Amino acid sequence: MAKKLNVLFASAEVAPFAKTGGLGDVAGALPASLLSNFSEQLDIRIIMPFHAAVKTWNPQRQRIGEYSFSANERQIDCELFVTENNGVPVYLLDSQDINHDSPIYHGDWQLDGQKYASFSLALLEAAHYLNWHVDILHANDWHTALSIYALKTRYKNDPFFAGIKTILSIHNLPYNGWGSQDAMAALGYKASNDPDLPDWAKYTPLPMGISAADKVIAVSPGYATEILTSEYGCGLEDYLRKHSDRVMGILNGIDESAWDPSDDESISQNFSAEELDKRIKNKLDLQKALDFEVDEDIPLFVIVTRLTEQKGVPTILEALPKLLDKKWQFVILGSGNHQLEESIRELTSQYSDRMAGFIKYDDVIARVLYASGDIFLMPSLYEPCGLSQMFAMRYGNLPVATATGGLADSIMDYSANPKKATGFLYEQKNADGLVNALKLALDVFKDKEQWQVMQLNAMKTDFSWKTSARKYLETYQTITD
Ligand code: ADP
Repeated sequence: MAKKLNVLFASAEVAPFAKTGGLGDVAGALPASLLSNFSEQLDIRIIMPFHAAVKTWNPQRQRIGEYSFSANERQIDCELFVTENNGVPVYLLDSQDINHDSPIYHGDWQLDGQKYASFSLALLEAAHYLNWHVDILHANDWHTALSIYALKTRYKNDPFFAGIKTILSIHNLPYNGWGSQDAMAALGYKASNDPDLPDWAKYTPLPMGISAADKVIAVSPGYATEILTSEYGCGLEDYLRKHSDRVMGILNGIDESAWDPSDDESISQNFSAEELDKRIKNKLDLQKALDFEVDEDIPLFVIVTRLTEQKGVPTILEALPKLLDKKWQFVILGSGNHQLEESIRELTSQYSDRMAGFIKYDDVIARVLYASGDIFLMPSLYEPCGLSQMFAMRYGNLPVATATGGLADSIMDYSANPKKATGFLYEQKNADGLVNALKLALDVFKDKEQWQVMQLNAMKTDFSWKTSARKYLETYQTITD
């Protein structure tokens, strides 16, 4: 039998303690699934910064102690706590750079650079302090990519880390940590000497981590292929193609117990595939609450998203006014880009009898929208995996989405196979593409029998982590062989 592996899973976000997007969902669910399915094969523990959000959540925790290390002659004092999530130990790390009064992301590259370049060293020092011999360091995105790089440089000759293997999961390639350079220099990070990296990437966190990692895992097989092209590769496509033997894709899953419409306290009426007729009450209640016309036959479009270009929010704002001659209603929940927030306020107030916007981050409203909507909009320009479409499908809300990355990997398209379909995919990433896709969805919505077939297909699709967790386990085992 293979040796039991110690895996340290490092992430900026971990649901439920701190989450802004899918990374938090993954860090909250994947290690838990690995532990519950494969506890004989591995001991997995999470490490995250002790953000203000964690303080607010206020999980039961134990203080383990404190330690210091020096970086570029600066002493960094750390304090370590431990809590747990579904049986997985979660280390909460605090220091003067992480500062547990800080937001998950400052939105200021300088400050975020300092927080995460420092966290990337401090988390390795935590393993040292705990005297816990890590076989695999599994880092996620640019925030913790430098921990992998540091293992291959600063800690290269440290016997404590001898033989350690590394995995870097890419949840979003364009967010590469650019702007962290001053902070990295202050902590003594040297530029990568990998001749295959473009010059700009030699001193940028994510590519430095990619270059040093034993395996690079994109969060869907589709995205793993896309990032090898100039359209999605963000200037790293040549590098990734040359090193494609280290690049792979594993589709994210969702925590099906945390996202279960038959047992979700946030929605007005629980339902399941077996009792699908109960679902409609959620929509009718929402229509009432929003002062919309209350009518189950009016299709309800919803979206829950970070407000960014990536998510196709401008496309939605352009497309909806082109569809005003048809009957539908629209509710959006999101926060982010201020200009987009303003445009949403303008559009929804102009058509307040049929459109509404919640400009904020709110887990309860998110669940209400997943449970109430008929059609979930996901017109992303690119989508490494996307979990929102999976939550939507699990709640019987059919996605209309661009045929890209993880969307194409997780949605069965109506046009390709109506009997097995779980949503609608389209190619043309602009307002016309979305308008056409929505027209098709609106037509199909009128066919109640077909719609129900698709809802049941969607709700019964296995989006659990089990299959993907096994693939992660196999990857851990392969690289340590
Ligand atoms: P990304 O990670 O790119 O933001 P995903 O679809 O993978 O996109 O994951 C988004 C996650 O964040 C989902 O859990 C979604 O419900 C949640 N989310 C996004 N925006 C909001 C919001 N404004 N309020 C509540 N939850 C949100």
